[in-house]
Amino acid sequence: MSKKGKLIVVSGPSGVGKSSLIAKAMEKRNDFCFSVSVTTREARPGEKDGEDYFFISREQFARMVEAGELLEHASYVGNDYGTPRAYVEQKREDGFNVVLDIEVQGAGQVHEMMPEAVMIFVVPPSLEELEQRLTLRGTETPEKIRGRLQRAKEEYQQAVFYQYIIVNDDLAVAADEFSAIVTASHCLYEDRKNYLTESQERYES
Ligand code: 5GP
Repeated sequence: MSKKGKLIVVSGPSGVGKSSLIAKAMEKRNDFCFSVSVTTREARPGEKDGEDYFFISREQFARMVEAGELLEHASYVGNDYGTPRAYVEQKREDGFNVVLDIEVQGAGQVHEMMPEAVMIFVVPPSLEELEQRLTLRGTETPEKIRGRLQRAKEEYQQAVFYQYIIVNDDLAVAADEFSAIVTASHCLYEDRKNYLTESQERYES
């Protein structure tokens, strides 16, 4: 692959199924890479260090921020999260579309720095269903679930800078939409206008 990969930012309320959506879309394509974030949150049962997140201490997190090693970072319901910069840059140079699963504040930082990033907001069919999914997942206390629902409502208000919304009702449909958005992003006029001048030049030489 010779062309630089896209930066794909995926946000949406906790429990909406972003991880499953990204995993499903990645099954069918070999040009995606998932950026594993660092977090100060405790690992949930079944989560693997280095796969779901790099689980680090608050001190380590602060050091990474200080050293400029994070592309963006934000806190979310009492914990810190951030995207390691080096991995994202390297993989994009290698031609991969790098997918970030990040909340709205961090996504806003990316959008400011890199307006060409592809911004996707994933929502559940309803907030009632989201509450049910979070409760069924059983990984958070009722108080944490309330915090996450409150944050979801705030994110709906703040999510004005996204270009796309995917409603995650049927996972297969949502994954197809995700893949289509990424494919379309590679066909943008801005990215392809060189073909026009190059074709003309070749024809005339
Ligand atoms: P969870 O604790 O449920 O895994 O994630 C909580 C929220 O943090 C989710 O909305 C997720 O997208 C977001 N998140 C995960 N990694 C990062 C990151 O590196 N940066 C930011 N800003 N948010 C993240």
